Parts: sequence; C-alpha cells; structure tokens
Amino acid sequence: MNKPRLLWINILVFLATFLIAVVAVPYRALTHGFDSFEIIAAIICFCFCGISITAGYHRLWSHRTYKAHPVLKFIYAIGGAFALQNSILHWSSDHRVHHKHVDNNDVDPYSAKKGFWFSHIGWMLRDYHRESYAKYDNVRDLQKEKIVMWQHRNYLLLTLMTNFGIPVALGLLHGDVFSSVLLIGVLRLVLSHHTTFFINSLAHIWGRQTYTEKNTARDNGILAFFTFGEGYHNFHHIFENDYRNGIRWFHFDPTKWLIKGCTYFNLTHNLKKTPEDKIAKAKAKMQLVNSQSKLQSIANADELIAKLQHEYDLLIEQMNLYYETKKLLIAQKRSKLSEGVERSTLMLRYKELKETLNQQIKHWDMLRAQYA
Ligand SMILES: [Zn+2]
Ligand SMILES: [Zn+2]
Repeated sequence: MNKPRLLWINILVFLATFLIAVVAVPYRALTHGFDSFEIIAAIICFCFCGISITAGYHRLWSHRTYKAHPVLKFIYAIGGAFALQNSILHWSSDHRVHHKHVDNNDVDPYSAKKGFWFSHIGWMLRDYHRESYAKYDNVRDLQKEKIVMWQHRNYLLLTLMTNFGIPVALGLLHGDVFSSVLLIGVLRLVLSHHTTFFINSLAHIWGRQTYTEKNTARDNGILAFFTFGEGYHNFHHIFENDYRNGIRWFHFDPTKWLIKGCTYFNLTHNLKKTPEDKIAKAKAKMQLVNSQSKLQSIANADELIAKLQHEYDLLIEQMNLYYETKKLLIAQKRSKLSEGVERSTLMLRYKELKETLNQQIKHWDMLRAQYA
C-alpha cells in the first residue's frame, strides 16, 4: 500500500524550528547571552500558547466543559494561532475523533497504538486523514461560533502576525530583534509544540491507569507539570466532560485553576464536574481489576479472588449509601424547607456513613496491600 503524500510545509517548519532551537539558540546563549527581559517574555509567551491550547482549544472548544466570555475566547484564539497548532475548528475536530475512536489505528488521528513517533509528531508529517478535513461534521456546534470561524478563516494571517509580529515587536522594544526572534519566536514555539505533543504520545504510554484500562491513556503527575495539567490523561479519557484533569487539590493542573479563577471575574461559568461517586467507583473498579490480575498468576487463588470480590461489593454498597445520603443532604440544604431536627438527623447519619466508608476504604487498601 502506498503511503500518503508527505506534507513538506509541516516537515520544514518542524525541522527548521527544531534545528534553530537546538543549535542557534544555545550558540547565541554562549556567545551573546539572553537577558532577563527576553527570558521572562519567552516564559510568558510559552504559557500564553500552552494555556490557550489546554484551556481554550481542549477543555473549552473540544469538550465543552465550561462556558467562556467572548473576551477570553478571543485571547485563546490568538494564543492558539501563536502556538501554531492549526485552527480551533481543525484541532477540535481531530481531538473529538481521537476521543471517540481512541487507539483505533484506522480512525484515531494520533493513535498511540501506532507508537511514540507517530502519536507525537509522525501523524502530522503525512496526509493521513485528508477526507475528514473537508467535512468537519463533528464540530457543527463550533461552526456556529463567530470567533471560531473568524480564526479559521484568518488562521494563516494570525499565525504569521503572532509568530513574527510578537517576537519582532518585543525585540524592537527591547533593542535586540535577533535574540528575541530566537528565544521568544523559535525556542518558545518548539517547547510549546513538543510539550503539547507529549499529551498525545507520552500521556498514552507513561503513567498509571487509575480509572480505566479500556484505552492507553495514563495519569502522570510529572507530565502534568510540563503540560499545564494535562498529564492526568487517564482521568480525562474516561471523564472528558470534566473541566478538571487533576481532580485532587494537590494535583498540578494550572488549566483547572485558571478556569475556576476566571469564574470570580465572570469570564467563565457552567463549569462541569463529574459526580464524585462515579469517580470513586471507577477507581475502586480498577483497583479490583489490578488486584485480581496479580492473583491470577498464583495457584489456587480462587478463595482470595472471591474474598477480594466480596470486599469490593461491600465497598460499593457502602459508597452507594454514603453518596445517596450526601445528595439528600445537599438537596435538603438547598430547599431550606426541612425542619432543623430533620436536617440534624440526616447530618448525623451522613457523618456515621462517612466514618464507616472511611473504615471500609482502609480495610480495602490493607487487603489489596496484603495480596500485592
Ligand atoms: Zn481531550
Ligand atoms: Zn488522548
């Protein structure tokens, strides 16, 4: 079978920027040096590009996990063009296919099952999915958005204006255009490209399958650090409508913090969150699967497997009771109709169930540790 044609423009852009970043930038650093203005400006521009992709292209437009003010959308649209990762419409279309057909080598545009190189950058070097680009039928909702279509129509112009205009303008302001183009133009772009590309490659290879093993996506805190929080990719693939990727308070997810922070300025609203019982149950299910598969290798482990299953059933039962009561309590607080006595009885019950569930979880963890 013939391979699709090579996309020479993409190849040249990736190759030229990469070579400049690894050869010319270090050479300039050694022979001339970069000052703090240039370094700080490059970091700010890198964050601007990264966040526009993660908070805008990804969590806003591809997954609709929250609603945003037009001003914020406009900022994302500019940052996305600066990041040079194609238009919002195109990116979101690809990404929705990726989620719907994840790991399917024939359909997923950057299927991780085709290996690191392909999912990282190889998929952009040949014309693999030409037919899908004409239709955009999975992004009809985005085609109704003025900012999305304006960016799509003017993408090339916006890309050139940001990628040349911003570094040159900052260079003129600061008095060294060449250094600015090298650092803010090229190095920033290369770092921005590859950190985003890691989400398609490394985040499907390296890390833990905390919530599901139905796809290759992994949770990885180290990767989250370099990808503005997108490293919790296993969670993201199972709960793609959640505006968060790292759900615990200590999970490094600046994209989540930005989206949440913007609510205080009325720039974002309707932030979607997965119900916590669903998350807890998915995690427990994976723990069961992992422990069971470890036991499979041991002879005569039937009794242990049955015990594990029994404990798991008890845990789920306890979770159901706890979360149902929690929901009741929240509903009661909202309605303000219930009597004080009624409410305090329910609160007491809730606290008891919480304690029992915590005990059950401890027991479950100990049992799994024993079997491990
Ligand atoms: Zn996604
Ligand atoms: Zn993915």
